[in-house]
Amino acid sequence: MKILFYDTKNYDRDSFDAALKKAENNHIEIEYIKSDLDPRTAALAEGCDAVCAFVSSDVGAKTLEILHEKKVGLVLMRCAGFNNVDLEKAEEYGIRVMRVPGYSPEAVAEHAIALALACNRRLYKAYNKVRENDFSLSGLMGFNFYEKTAGIIGTGKIGASMCRICQGFGMQVIAYDVYENPALKDFVEYVSLDRLLQESDLISLHCPLMDSTYHLINIDTIKKMKDGVILVNTSRGALVKTDDLIEGIRMHKFAGVGLDVYEEETQNVFEDRSDEILEHSTTARLLSFPNVMITSHQGFFTKEALTAIAETTLQNARDYLNGHSSQNDVK
Ligand code: NAD
Repeated sequence: MKILFYDTKNYDRDSFDAALKKAENNHIEIEYIKSDLDPRTAALAEGCDAVCAFVSSDVGAKTLEILHEKKVGLVLMRCAGFNNVDLEKAEEYGIRVMRVPGYSPEAVAEHAIALALACNRRLYKAYNKVRENDFSLSGLMGFNFYEKTAGIIGTGKIGASMCRICQGFGMQVIAYDVYENPALKDFVEYVSLDRLLQESDLISLHCPLMDSTYHLINIDTIKKMKDGVILVNTSRGALVKTDDLIEGIRMHKFAGVGLDVYEEETQNVFEDRSDEILEHSTTARLLSFPNVMITSHQGFFTKEALTAIAETTLQNARDYLNGHSSQNDVK
């Protein structure tokens, strides 16, 4: 079985080669390429049985049409989210889509709390000040998380891990989800979204991007939040309406905003760095505020998570090869 691996980074190649070596007789060959999957690059998969794609890939109708023409039968998403895949079209063409649902929820939750703490205590500013020989504390005041309220939106695998971390800080943990997670019943109180917005000192987003969650954080929901709240988003950029977030920041609503994901992520705003793109970029506008910290979708980026992603993706490929059904099928 041959897999064309799109958008390859050195760390992907290292973790997948290690996982291939570990498995015996897997009959899997991987060709790595740097280009990401989109309608312009889909035809490169000619002669391959499967493609391996990521959150940044465009697995929309046109791409799937070309993959179908090239007789590709499997899309291996090496991530949990699949909002960039046109599932209806995939089904129409008989292309199977598989993903890695939970490779290391702790990796993302630990990054979410890192962003919250870094914003709260202005660690990025403190680091730069001290490097410039400025040891004053001006502009660095934060607040204790202890005995404050953490509001967690979405309490699946990552949200549950975030709930446990916040409890460890001595916070009261409240949550909003369309389903209650029974594993959290001893220490998490489920509340309405409005109550969560009104009562939380830290709000962290851990729900998937769907029609019902698109722009969940907008000017109406922002206005309901406490003044001085910290907002963290490690899920998907479009959960937050960026223009409204900027308005909220201007209203001094937030003590800090920590984002690992942002709406313009797939446009490579900072890789291109053209003046025109940066001028119109809402991400660049966000970065002009001193209380905003943005990281580049690195929540998943730990050794443990990369190993788990590679091993599960190869297991998905083997299940396809052997005609086995799997819990990792996306339907
Ligand atoms: P999960 O499926 O285990 O949990 C998602 C939770 O959101 C579920 O409990 C679900 O009921 C809830 N939910 C669904 N609709 C909702 C709504 N309208 N309001 C509130 N809650 C709702 O997923 P997970 O593994 O915890 O991942 C969560 C998200 O994290 C993913 O969808 C993905 O976007 C993101 N993610 C980011 C990174 C990163 O590197 N930053 C890595 C992996 C995943």
